[in-house]
Amino acid sequence: MSRVLCRSVIALRLRLPMARHASYLVDDPKYSFLKDLGLDKKNVGVFNGKWEANGQLIQSYSPANGKVIAEVQSANTADYELCAKAAQEAWHAWAELPIPARGEIVRQIGDALREKLQPLGQLVSLEMGKILPEAIGEVVEYIHVCDLAVGLSRTLPGTIFPSERPGHVLIEKWNPLGLIGIISAFNFPVAVYGWNSAIAMVCGDVSIWKPSDTTPLTAVAVTKIVESVLTKNNIPGAVAALCVGGRDVGQTLVQDHRVKLVSFTGSTAVGQQVGVEVQRRFGRHLLELGGNNAIIVNADANLDLLLNAALFACAGTAGQRCTTTRRLLIHEKVFNEVVSRLKKAYAGVVSRIGDPLLSETLIGPLHTAAAVEAYKKTVAEAVKQGGTIEFGGKVMDREGFFVEPTIITGLPHDSPLVKSECFAPIVYCIQIPDLDTGIQYNNEVEQGLSSSVFTENLSDVFKWIGPHGSDCGIVNVNIPTNGAEVGGAFGGEKATGGGRECGSDAWKAYMRRSTVTINYSGTIKLAQNIKFGDE
Ligand code: NAD
Repeated sequence: MSRVLCRSVIALRLRLPMARHASYLVDDPKYSFLKDLGLDKKNVGVFNGKWEANGQLIQSYSPANGKVIAEVQSANTADYELCAKAAQEAWHAWAELPIPARGEIVRQIGDALREKLQPLGQLVSLEMGKILPEAIGEVVEYIHVCDLAVGLSRTLPGTIFPSERPGHVLIEKWNPLGLIGIISAFNFPVAVYGWNSAIAMVCGDVSIWKPSDTTPLTAVAVTKIVESVLTKNNIPGAVAALCVGGRDVGQTLVQDHRVKLVSFTGSTAVGQQVGVEVQRRFGRHLLELGGNNAIIVNADANLDLLLNAALFACAGTAGQRCTTTRRLLIHEKVFNEVVSRLKKAYAGVVSRIGDPLLSETLIGPLHTAAAVEAYKKTVAEAVKQGGTIEFGGKVMDREGFFVEPTIITGLPHDSPLVKSECFAPIVYCIQIPDLDTGIQYNNEVEQGLSSSVFTENLSDVFKWIGPHGSDCGIVNVNIPTNGAEVGGAFGGEKATGGGRECGSDAWKAYMRRSTVTINYSGTIKLAQNIKFGDE
């Protein structure tokens, strides 16, 4: 939905005055943290070493009250071109820096983020809508990735293999890719950039970041923090370029042959187009797409543990995590108990839905008016198809984009609704007779991001993590589907895109590998002992 149309919908829904020069939240002393981050009423959304933009003006608003926070001038095609040129130019010096020296820059970025932890978390909460502890957690995640990347900068491997030929050595050498593109989704407006940027920087890449056009202020604030470190160290700012914009800027980046890797985080529908487009030019892509995550509740599950986990997993972040639990596959023996206890747990948090910046709030708003419409449509369709709304199901009568967390029973496990991702706090409870059926249901959706089983049975744990278990990228036991740590590789299979970010060997996506054979024997020997001619 275009920003202008979006504003009209908000104004209708919230009966807001559409005054052209209404005061913005950035000028309200209550939100003074915005000024601490260097934000103003009108901000430049393009950074190529210099801040300069000529595209459309975007208004960024708070989903909690529909009020405009501030404006951001986005990129046009010419602005994107300047970013790409400047970033490519900056790459030469950046790639020549010793890897530990690049790590030192990333270490300083981590420290700069620590200094701005509170205001940046507050901005994420205000602009995206997640509650403050989660928003701060997101900045902490970026800091953790910086720590991980600093370690990596001292340990990036290169292997020497034994050669079959005398006087030869076989080396695997890793080099930076060059310019990479990072396209991010609205729901993790800091962490997703951090996952990519920190690792890519130590790998020796430079980047252009195309953030979501509904969280542009967070992107500007993060880039200002990174810029401060680069400037202090006399590093060209274009090493970490920013291009705020919508689909048009995203498409330009995706089609740009100079961009060696496109790391895309977003919906499966858009990610599929991006993947095909990048493949068309033989670029590299890293796709982090939609999920449809399930928790299996075994008959022997510790239900106290399960209920504790499920509340956050299903209703937390107002259902706007890629790893949110959307299906509870519950053993028939404990089905009624789980549903009834979950309803009680939901009832206990309804009074704590509200302004995400307040300490008593547990659940914030949906991000946009369009998300509220999608929620309404899904609930209506579920009822039409014979589902029972066990809890919630309604839009809340208050300013902002608030909906009730919702529990639905009675839909078949394979109904198209259950098999699709609605990015809202709706969970489907489905009965299973045994773990095998649970695994079958878990795996039958097209997405393959996260999954979990609650059980006390060791054999079931190993079945679940084995070849006939969950087919997801994240396979948990006795914890919710959401809330991953940075040390492991994050990502999912099938329509979730297959990409991996953060820990483990995810760095490999940001580098190119050369197999190098060096002959120091003084004679030419062919592999496999092949004799050619009279030799
Ligand atoms: P989205 O697909 O609407 O947008 C994602 C990004 O793509 C935005 O920056 C957008 O401007 C850009 N974009 C839109 N059309 C484009 C095009 N044709 N070419 C290039 N770029 C384009 O997603 P969203 O609504 O911002 O985010 C929610 C989705 O993201 C959910 O499906 C969620 O599951 C997924 N997500 C996945 C992960 C993961 O790690 N797997 C993490 C976060 C979010």
